[in-house]
Amino acid sequence: MTRPRILTGDTPTGRLHLGHLVGSLENRVRLQDDHECYFLIANVHAFTTRAEHPHDIRRDTIEIVRDYLAVGIDPARSTLVLQSEVRAIPELTFLLAMLLPFQRVMRNPTLKAELADKQLDQHSFGFPLYTVGQCADILAFRAHLVPVGEDQAATIEMCREVARRFERLYGGAVFPIPDVLLGRVARLPGTDGVNKMSKSLGNAIFLSDTRAEIHRKMRALRTGRSSMTTPGDPENALFQYARAFMPDAHRVRELADRYARGDHIGDGAIKAEVADAIDVALAPMRERRAIYDGPRGEAMIVELLHAHARHANATADETLASVKAAMHLDLRPVPAVAHLDAAREAIAAAPSG
Ligand code: ATP
Ligand code: MG
Repeated sequence: MTRPRILTGDTPTGRLHLGHLVGSLENRVRLQDDHECYFLIANVHAFTTRAEHPHDIRRDTIEIVRDYLAVGIDPARSTLVLQSEVRAIPELTFLLAMLLPFQRVMRNPTLKAELADKQLDQHSFGFPLYTVGQCADILAFRAHLVPVGEDQAATIEMCREVARRFERLYGGAVFPIPDVLLGRVARLPGTDGVNKMSKSLGNAIFLSDTRAEIHRKMRALRTGRSSMTTPGDPENALFQYARAFMPDAHRVRELADRYARGDHIGDGAIKAEVADAIDVALAPMRERRAIYDGPRGEAMIVELLHAHARHANATADETLASVKAAMHLDLRPVPAVAHLDAAREAIAAAPSG
């Protein structure tokens, strides 16, 4: 029996952080047994904002794979996809771009939020195109399910639309309509206390951070509270981290109640307790990551990505062939072929001489 397919991924604009963990990675690890999983490192898309820094993109690509392996993505069960190795993706991006009105792409809330957050007033022409490229990533693998954070939900909606439009125009039943799967925390705030935790906003606690770094970042977390007797907001970033990472829900409720009352409880003590819980959650990842440290680990990762690219290409090439057939790009219109085949058979069957 074939398993439902998953595709999701990350752009190598930095290392993976706690937001990725609760937003998407935990679901990926959980679903690898009963789904056919493709996890894509969007190294081509990284060029939309970092074209001047190819070495950084390469470094972060390797780091993200280290994070994948550290978190428990298993290369024996799941396929790691290096985007730049999959030739069908750019072709499909170009074809899908014709099926989306320009304004529809520009109004995509994911894109609009990113343009605002990253203050990309000088963004490349390729930047808006990456959202179409993301539809191509998903559809190239004919994914049924896309585990992402809330920020990407609008792009998945666009992907669903373009898949339906393709079917309406060309038929062929090529693409399943993919569903979004949000994580247990769909949008984790960053340590600035306001924005989404993001690799590129300097507000992230990384999965590879040391215990000291976690504590330092937690101490700097903004809560806007002035004293131990000021009532605090039990929904702020600090308490969102507490709920996400402290295993004892009863303890979190107790802290939240006292915090909301301004009951002589300082931010510092709570931050230290939450930092400890984050450190405990990340400790096993540090151990697994150590296996892939250094140049030897890097060489293993490069080899792994190239080996997996073969399987990724087989799947995506198959999709592209169906797409081209449905669009009549391969010049094999079905009735004409049937007609020619019949003629050829008649010729072959005709008595010679
Ligand atoms: P960048 O700042 O470069 O956009 P990012 O931190 O937003 O980086 P992405 O590579 O864009 O990370 O996103 C990878 C996946 O992680 C997506 O599925 C996204 O929805 C999810 N994700 C990212 N940040 C968060 C967050 N703070 N909370 C929950 N999910 C998140
Ligand atoms: Mg992002």
